[in-house]
Amino acid sequence: MYRKDQIDKELSAKIKSMELDSGYNQEQEEERANGTIETHQPAPKKEPWYKKLSDVPLNTRPASPYTLNPPIDSDGLSWPSLGARERLESSNEESSSRESRIAEAVKTILTELGEDPNREGLLETPERYARAMLFFTKGYEDNIKDVIKRAVFEEDHDEMVIVKDIEIYSLCEHHLVPFFGKCHIAYIPNKKVLGLSKLARLAEMYARRFQVQERLTKQIAIALSEILQPRGVAVVIEATHMCMVSRGVQKSGAITSTSCMLGCFRAQQKTRDEFLTLLGRR
Ligand SMILES: [Zn+2]
Repeated sequence: MYRKDQIDKELSAKIKSMELDSGYNQEQEEERANGTIETHQPAPKKEPWYKKLSDVPLNTRPASPYTLNPPIDSDGLSWPSLGARERLESSNEESSSRESRIAEAVKTILTELGEDPNREGLLETPERYARAMLFFTKGYEDNIKDVIKRAVFEEDHDEMVIVKDIEIYSLCEHHLVPFFGKCHIAYIPNKKVLGLSKLARLAEMYARRFQVQERLTKQIAIALSEILQPRGVAVVIEATHMCMVSRGVQKSGAITSTSCMLGCFRAQQKTRDEFLTLLGRR
């Protein structure tokens, strides 16, 4: 039987246990990815991977491999994909042969779906799709140094900075279809502020990748935290997932909200409330 309060109870117990052991759990992550997470039988308790609590990065929620790695590599890439450097460094020739390989694969897909990739309307679709995909995933190649270029300023401002309604377009990594919506970013500076437009650039950099909304939210928050070392960071994303509204459960209009609160946003209810009030959420 499907009982909401029971599910709520299990969920909050789960979140609690995750906060306690803060360790990345491969099994759970996989189950989550397959959409088969089972909450009835709690996984055997594992030893936490950290020795003391301060070792936990930013004292945040459990992270996936994508958020446990250093947020920003020495060369300025941030959680690059496996082939991001190859893509970045490839010559024009290599790039165009990459494009044709993707296009070939798309032709196979079209054929397997029962289409004729040689009919007029589809003739150039594989190449177009290849270029679109490379654009949708260009965030892997973005360099954080270019993104924030000379826009970190010393400023004695210690009130909340908030940018609302940043449009984001991303790709669900489970179905390779878009999810899109609004991202709201807030932080409380600690002597350093970031040019406001850079907050949107940061969101864009992580959105133009294969993502799950939860990780996207976390990556933006952790990166901002790394760049500014502020007193706190809060990121909220509200998005519509095509995989949800156009297939399966078909709940059109369903909006998924995720948030990541770090530092004083996490520690102080008052700060969190102020943020949510400014967002118009209470
Ligand atoms: Zn999906």
